[in-house]
Amino acid sequence: MQWHDEFDFIVVGSGAGALAAAIRAQELGLKTLILEKSEYFGGSSAMSGGGLWIPNNHDMARVGIVDSEDDAIAYLKHITAGKVPDAKIRAYVRTAPKMIADFHRRGILRTQAIGNYCDYYPDAPGAKPGGRTMEALPFNSLRLGDERKHLRPTTLLLFNLISAIASDACHNVSGSLYGQWLAMKRVLLWALNIPARLISKESLMLGLGQTVVAPLRYQLKKHKVPLWLSSPAKQLIVENHRVVGVEVEQQGKRVMVRANCGVLMAAGGFDHNQQMREQYLPKPTSGKWSAGNLHNTGDAIVMGQQVGARLAFMDDAWWSPTLQAPGWPTAWILVYEKNMPHGIFVDSTGKRFVNESGPYIDVVSGMYRNHGPDKVSVPCWMIFDTNYRRQSALGKILPSRMQPDKKVDPAFWNDSLFKADSLAGLASKIGIPAHALQQTVTRYNSFCETGIDADFNRGGNISDRFYGKVKYNNPTMGPIIKAPFYAARIDAGDIGTKGGLDTNEHAQVLRDDGSVIAGLYACGNCASSVMGYSYAGAGATLGPAMTFGYIAAETAARENTPCI
Ligand code: FAD
Repeated sequence: MQWHDEFDFIVVGSGAGALAAAIRAQELGLKTLILEKSEYFGGSSAMSGGGLWIPNNHDMARVGIVDSEDDAIAYLKHITAGKVPDAKIRAYVRTAPKMIADFHRRGILRTQAIGNYCDYYPDAPGAKPGGRTMEALPFNSLRLGDERKHLRPTTLLLFNLISAIASDACHNVSGSLYGQWLAMKRVLLWALNIPARLISKESLMLGLGQTVVAPLRYQLKKHKVPLWLSSPAKQLIVENHRVVGVEVEQQGKRVMVRANCGVLMAAGGFDHNQQMREQYLPKPTSGKWSAGNLHNTGDAIVMGQQVGARLAFMDDAWWSPTLQAPGWPTAWILVYEKNMPHGIFVDSTGKRFVNESGPYIDVVSGMYRNHGPDKVSVPCWMIFDTNYRRQSALGKILPSRMQPDKKVDPAFWNDSLFKADSLAGLASKIGIPAHALQQTVTRYNSFCETGIDADFNRGGNISDRFYGKVKYNNPTMGPIIKAPFYAARIDAGDIGTKGGLDTNEHAQVLRDDGSVIAGLYACGNCASSVMGYSYAGAGATLGPAMTFGYIAAETAARENTPCI
């Protein structure tokens, strides 16, 4: 084999898991290379809300919540329902807080616990009412120097300009004075920082997913760890049953790069590979409904399969209802909109079918469960009224008091967004039975009087009520009464797919017979998730991606001591 270059550890992909792994590998003395397919580093991780689900983390005491390894293990075992080996759950619970505390202490990634962001299944054993979801503190992008222009852009900016932080999010949408003050403060900080705006119109202080990725990249840059952009991995190279390198494409040429201690696949899921979606996911399905990074096309999964890896959880995704937005490369996620008062989801028969305020994966699972020959709920409809429109956003469409209908991009109307003066008129526009829709709305409105949803228990626990409006007795419920009425077409979208190369507690990739493929590791959405078919809480994709990336680097260094 003619090698063009040689490293100890090659990381394929540049999301949060990849970068955490590269930091650990470099610290352990492995000469490390990061390969990124696109011209930007960061992947979906940079586009994300940046929540990190880290049970038993170092900052929970500050927010007054007591956690333990035992509670976290009990919770994960309960929600994963026997689908994930205990050893993998234990490895996650043990390593995640250690990694985050270490990064925090050394100033690599400064993080804080969000006190009121509760686990998604608050009634499960071991669940906590907050604190396990963490966020990274804002990071000044100027510190990245030239690398700043290669950081994957995010769409999660206020007015497309101003960065946000996750701990403000529920207050921002709650309608409380405090929430309004927090939003105003961010706008003022941005507006008054005139020197910063002379450099860039967008906030220089990064928030959400970008503020997870950027400091990790900064640390790697400090230690001169190379990151090759526009360099997709194409194939794994195997010698004597061991992965020993990667074939990389650079400017149309194939380059062979040796990896003495191992290769970590961290190249995301198959969000935008339509053929794989149709092969594995429930149908109908479309990559257009995904909010994930467009370059996540399942490459790592295919490469792993070619060297004998078995796959797991391929029929699942990190589901989220999404909206098609004209002119946007990816779909918009609707994480909190479904919880807001004055709106409901209905299927093609005009009936509700799910607790709209439940975890987003469950809402989309409900769309698929309800979908059948006699009714369509993929897509379904979000029906809302003028009260909703006045006080709540829909994706990046601001409340009408800030962005009246005439200022909404005309391409939305009669495509993914409809409006009529009566419910009957709306029903006719979207092709659902008017009488049934009226009946559904009347019944739902009657529940709003008591705040008790007798059909789906909307807003029935603290997780459901995390997003809502404070002025309502059930913060997620308000009647649909004020014309004009609206309907938004809701797709069975996702923030990434979940299944991939099956891995053990050491992040090693496994064959069908359970044996380890020497030299091959995986983390993030190209690996089988430690969450199984569930979703522990906000940050349950990024937390594990970073943790198993970190574990992979430790395993590679430990198993291959002669190479360093
Ligand atoms: P990515 O971060 O997407 O990184 C994969 C990288 O690999 C990409 O840069 C891609 O270009 C590159 N790549 C692909 N193929 C190749 C190849 N052949 N060679 C080299 N490189 C390749 N999760 C949370 O936990 N908390 C949140 O708050 C959260 N909010 C979200 C909000 C939004 C809007 C979205 C879209 C997602 C959100 N998620 C969140 C989900 C989370 O972002 C993803 O699950 C996570 O980023 C996946 O990490 P990853 O490392 O697997 O993939």
